[in-house]
Amino acid sequence: MVKKKIYSFSELSSPSGEVGRGVGIRSDFPILGRKIYDKYPLVYLDNAATTQKPRCVVEAMTDEYYNVNANVHRGVHFLSQQATDLHEQARETVRRFLNARSTNEIIFTRGTTESINLVASCFGQAFMKEGDEVLITEMEHHANIVSWQLVQARQGIKIRVIPISDEGELILDGIDDFFNEKTRIVSLTHVSNVLGTINPIKDIIRIAHAHGVPVLIDGAQSTPHFRVDVQDLDCDFFAFSGHKIYGPTGIGVLYGKEEWLEKLPPYMGGGEMIKTVTFEHTTFNDLPYKFEAGTPDYVASTGLAKALDYVSSIGLDVIESHEKDLTAYAMKRMMEIPGMKIFGPKDINQHDAVISFLVSLPSTGGAGKGAFIHHLDMGTLLDRLGIAIRTGHHCAEPLMHRLGIEGTCRASFALYNTREEVDALVSAILRIQQMF
Ligand code: PLP
Repeated sequence: MVKKKIYSFSELSSPSGEVGRGVGIRSDFPILGRKIYDKYPLVYLDNAATTQKPRCVVEAMTDEYYNVNANVHRGVHFLSQQATDLHEQARETVRRFLNARSTNEIIFTRGTTESINLVASCFGQAFMKEGDEVLITEMEHHANIVSWQLVQARQGIKIRVIPISDEGELILDGIDDFFNEKTRIVSLTHVSNVLGTINPIKDIIRIAHAHGVPVLIDGAQSTPHFRVDVQDLDCDFFAFSGHKIYGPTGIGVLYGKEEWLEKLPPYMGGGEMIKTVTFEHTTFNDLPYKFEAGTPDYVASTGLAKALDYVSSIGLDVIESHEKDLTAYAMKRMMEIPGMKIFGPKDINQHDAVISFLVSLPSTGGAGKGAFIHHLDMGTLLDRLGIAIRTGHHCAEPLMHRLGIEGTCRASFALYNTREEVDALVSAILRIQQMF
């Protein structure tokens, strides 16, 4: 039975030394107070799929719809200019958040998937021909596989895959051998959404650049958890989603170095991406608008900026330290469960706030020795105990093939999660294991 707990939230208050901060943080998210079935409060551990939204994000968006709403960029009237100002201020907030050089380098998209597709499509069109190669890794999300397969189908490019070890880390010995005169771009995830592996992207970027090859980073799972500085990383492109960092759905970001974005052709046509149009010819707008066809989600950009301000005001260092503590605690507690198999690096410094696991049936005597409880059964039963996790292939089917499994259970943490919730998860898993 999952016990009702009085939540102290002491973990989050300790890193910053600001007593009581955690209480405020948890109460910023009204949904966390929901009762699911007869269980209270909800234990939400599906943050890698999407995070919950703090009140300030929802209120900023509601306020904009009620009091400001007008289409951006094209209006001479007051509301349009105010909405445009908010949208462009949001771009500046994103620039500051990533430490990009200029707002010209910040493109609003619908999310990581669209950002990666934009780069694959435009870069492929401009810089790749039949036989040219893109380097990805064995732990990529489908967004960073299928986007390149579309280019492959159109242009006959080749996708090469950097393998991972059984521990779930990239095998970088001999990485230089992956580069040849046909390598055009490296595209890889910062953090695995399945294994939690934090990839040494700074080293990989350095190596790629030494070979004269640009790098696209999928930052969907890194931006919510620790500070990202695109200038320090020296990546050429960086993608992330608003909804995974406490912002609204339907908005994301593509950062690109200005010199690369200047060289890429537009992605879609129409709206703000043009300068002049005749039936014969169109000239394209300057950055960043060249890549923003159609009415942008200017209310979501306000929500995203609010979310980024929110995490920045707590401090990404505080969030990282809290989540590291929680992940280490969860790994330790979960390993006390007989027959528990946790995927991904054991070293907490290489492991982000995502834990993929499977649990053996008690009779089979240990992890990997016998049948695992099916991830879907585990997820469904945890749900009945008021605990939300995710199950399945997590949009990483090739990684599942590599691991020789169909899917995993995945618990993933955010700034509002607590040790008490980890305890609730562990007790619930033990209880379910006994049921089998
Ligand atoms: N890349 C990674 C590593 C992810 O975890 C996800 C989503 O789970 C995506 C890309 C796709 O993100 P979105 O669906 O927000 O575009």
